[in-house]
Amino acid sequence: MREQLVALAKLGRIDASTRDLDERLRSIPAEVDELRENVTILEGLLAKERDQLLEAQKLRDDQDEQIKAAGDTLARSKAKAAQARNAREAEAVERELEAVRRTMRDREAEREKLTGAIEKVSSSLEKHEQEFGGLRDMLAEKEAEAQKQVAEVEAERSKALAGREEITKLLPGDVLRRYERIRGRFGMATADAVDGTCMGCRLSMRPMQFIAVQRGETFEECPQCKRFLVDPAWLEAEAVPPVRVGAEKAAPTAEPEASGEAPVEDDDAAS
Ligand SMILES: [Zn+2]
Repeated sequence: MREQLVALAKLGRIDASTRDLDERLRSIPAEVDELRENVTILEGLLAKERDQLLEAQKLRDDQDEQIKAAGDTLARSKAKAAQARNAREAEAVERELEAVRRTMRDREAEREKLTGAIEKVSSSLEKHEQEFGGLRDMLAEKEAEAQKQVAEVEAERSKALAGREEITKLLPGDVLRRYERIRGRFGMATADAVDGTCMGCRLSMRPMQFIAVQRGETFEECPQCKRFLVDPAWLEAEAVPPVRVGAEKAAPTAEPEASGEAPVEDDDAAS
C-alpha cells in the first residue's frame, strides 16, 4: 500500500513539474513574439520615414527644374532687353525680368526649406535605422536564446516524463483513472496535506482524515477539491533513506576508523 501511495505522490510531483515546464514552453515563445511585433511596428515606421524623405527629395528636384527653367527664361528676357527698340519695350522687358527674378527667389526659398527638411528627416532616419538595427540584433539574440531554452525545457520535460510510465504501473487501474480524470478537470490531482490543511484548496480537513493521511494506509481524497491527499513525508522517507542511511553508515564506521588508524599509519610510515 505504501508503495502505491508513494507512487501516487511521485506522480503528483512529476505532473506538477511538467505543468510548470509546459507553462514555460508557452511563455518563452510568447515573449519573443512580443519583441518581434515591436520590430515589425518599427519597421513600418521606418518605411514611412523613408517615403517622406523620398518625397521631399522629389519636391526639391522639382524646384531645381523650375529654377533652371526660370534661369533660361531670364537669359531669354535679357537678350530681349538688349534688342528693345524704345523705352516702352525696354520697360515691358524689365517688368518681365522682374517677374522671373521673383519666381526664382521664391523657388530658391522653397528649395532651402526643403533642403532643411531633408537634412532633418535624414538624420532622424539614420538614428532610427541604428536603433532598429540594435533591436533586430536583440530579437535575433532572443530568438536563439529562446530556442535554446525551449530545447532545454523539452529535454527536462521528456526526462521527467520518462519515469512517469513506470510509476503509473504501480497504481491500481481505478486509482489511475480517477487521478487522470481529476487532473484533466483541475490541472492537479494530488494535494499535500500539511498541518491538517489540504494545500490544494486550503480546506481544514477533519482530524481523523489527517491522521489517516499520515498513517498512509488508504487513498484519501479531499472532500472539497476531490484531489488525492498526499503526505510530503512519504516522499521524504522514500528519498532520504538511501542517501542519509548510506552516509550515516559510512560516516560512523569510516571516520573513526580512518582517524584512528591514519595517525598510526602515518607514525609508522614516518618512523
Ligand atoms: Zn482540497
